[in-house]
Amino acid sequence: MTVRESPFSPDFKPTPYWWDASPQQTDDGADLPGEADVLIIGAGYTGLHAAIQTARAGLSTTVIDAEAAGWGCSTRNGGQVSTSVKPSYAALTKRHGKEIAIALLKEGQASLDHVATFIRQEKIDCDFHTVGRFHGAHTKKQYEGLARECDTNHPGFETNAWMVPRAEQQSELGTEVYHGGMVLPHHSSLDPGKYHAGLLQVARQAGVQIVSHCPATGIEHHATGFDVQTKKGLTKTGKVIVATNGYTGALTPWQQRRIIPIGSYVIATEEVPAELMDLLFPTNRVLSDTRKLVYYYRPSPDRKRVLFGGRVSLGETDPRKSGPKLHAELTRLFPQLAKTRISHSWAGLVGYTFDTLMHCGEDRGLFYAMGYCGSGVGMAGYLGSRMGMRAAGLERGLSAFAKPAFQTRPLYTGKPWFLAPSVIAYRLRDWLGT
Ligand SMILES: Cc1cc2nc3c(=O)[nH]c(=O)nc-3n(C[C@H](O)[C@H](O)[C@H](O)COP(=O)(O)OP(=O)(O)OC[C@H]3O[C@@H](n4cnc5c(N)ncnc54)[C@H](O)[C@@H]3O)c2cc1C
Repeated sequence: MTVRESPFSPDFKPTPYWWDASPQQTDDGADLPGEADVLIIGAGYTGLHAAIQTARAGLSTTVIDAEAAGWGCSTRNGGQVSTSVKPSYAALTKRHGKEIAIALLKEGQASLDHVATFIRQEKIDCDFHTVGRFHGAHTKKQYEGLARECDTNHPGFETNAWMVPRAEQQSELGTEVYHGGMVLPHHSSLDPGKYHAGLLQVARQAGVQIVSHCPATGIEHHATGFDVQTKKGLTKTGKVIVATNGYTGALTPWQQRRIIPIGSYVIATEEVPAELMDLLFPTNRVLSDTRKLVYYYRPSPDRKRVLFGGRVSLGETDPRKSGPKLHAELTRLFPQLAKTRISHSWAGLVGYTFDTLMHCGEDRGLFYAMGYCGSGVGMAGYLGSRMGMRAAGLERGLSAFAKPAFQTRPLYTGKPWFLAPSVIAYRLRDWLGT
């Protein structure tokens, strides 16, 4: 592609690729009920999984969303399903002791099983496949670190991972850029839009009322429950579950002070010839790498396009600006894609936390599950279900993720002023290979 040629295809859309097959719904005019046993704020994976549990436990349940149901990360993500917990066993043991570390990692694995089982049992057609992950090492030192990790799996949560040296890398991925990598065979892929649409259907069948385009603007706590004020009126409810993750705002200041919203950016390419896809992605796995500013990518479910995501700017930016930068990175990995243009470019707000762990629990009577740190496709459903069970008073609602303190920092109010310096520091670390 010459500099004069546009990197965008003529039918380019600044919206998620997944929305082509699963369009966002306009306001269907559903009324907000004046009362509900449980009111859930946020209609992504967390909110819907929680709602299915409370409704099946016999509680009248309403889920509201400020936008279309699923407008947040749940229809914008990369569709990679992992075991979700970022800190290592060693790091978790140092912070929380062996028992909690093991419990957290086991629940990470359980979240992957949970989503797979749920999709199978509810017969959700969302291109779910256990394809495995290839995690590329961007330096030799990182390869050695991955190999050590591979050898030190703790009994009870073995990943069954194996290493692929650089000389054999082409069997996994058509690039010379990595120094080899690790294969995690249980990680999976799905179509996030179809998964969310299926969840909506399951929730409605369970009796859940979904009210979209209905931002909650105030919550008042009384002795017997809550009054939740929304743009569509007031609901009296016994229980509230906050499921707003990266979009958590001033409505719930305690949670807002603990969530760091960080934009993540994705592009889809126009269609790539089948022979080239087979050369670049022979195994169909989901892909990521060892950089702090990680790139995550995969073939689309029909194997016609490449979906490539990551963080390419210091501050938040427009998908029309992030698109060409992501494309440049894609081309660095796969020079054969230099002339393949961008068909979609979009972004969403990932909910990070100060300890890079997800959290759930109860604060001043409000249940919450959030802070998936970019790994919520499995975990949001798992912890959402747990919170739904907990709100319904079921013992199965307990989770180890309620144990570590949900930290904030002095003066932090929900606006990550430290993002740009952190991105610069991470870029430097990635460049140095540390
Ligand atoms: C670009 C991108 C790529 C990602 N890729 C992956 C991936 O490959 N694998 C992975 O595991 N994870 C990935 N993630 C993360 C994953 O998508 C999220 O962790 C998960 O979807 C969180 O679901 P949720 O239901 O908690 O939040 P969301 O789906 O974000 O839903 C929150 C909802 O709350 C609503 N809301 C906020 N405030 C209010 C209010 N006051 N009133 C009413 N509603 C409100 C919002 O409108 C929003 O719809 C990615 C995220 C992004 C942005």
